Amino acid sequence: MHCPFCSASDTKVVDSRLVAEGQQIRRRRECSACQERFTTYETAELLMPRLIKADGSRQPFDDDKLRAGIQRSLEKRPVSVEEFEACINRIKHRLRATGEREVPSRLVGEATMSELRKLDEVAYVRFASVYRSFQDLDEFRKEIDRMEEPGVQPETDA
Ligand SMILES: [Zn+2]
Repeated sequence: MHCPFCSASDTKVVDSRLVAEGQQIRRRRECSACQERFTTYETAELLMPRLIKADGSRQPFDDDKLRAGIQRSLEKRPVSVEEFEACINRIKHRLRATGEREVPSRLVGEATMSELRKLDEVAYVRFASVYRSFQDLDEFRKEIDRMEEPGVQPETDA
């Protein structure tokens, strides 16, 4: 790729290592023309399922939207960029692990809440209260109880 400082096309990799629990490669590059150094990140692009909205319409999975929502919840929280990236990866992995080409869009919210809960309690509560405008505390408590069950299964009548 071109050097972001002088646009020369000849850059070399000076260091390369795995980050974000091995899901990403971080490369330090040096420009052969101006000797400036910069960093690139490489992540495998895996196909995400499309989302089925409550009204039945379909839309593509939106990585930016997911990131923006989580970033808002993590504002001023002691969570590193690495932890944030790993969290995003785990959420996307959960959606791909369904093996479906289309999944209900609420699965994104549920996977996000479940991962945020493990990452940072404050961020979890922030996200959950925005994601669902909980009518009353009971509904909120039921939601938390439900999420404590393994696998985030839908409620049954049994
Ligand atoms: Zn350069």
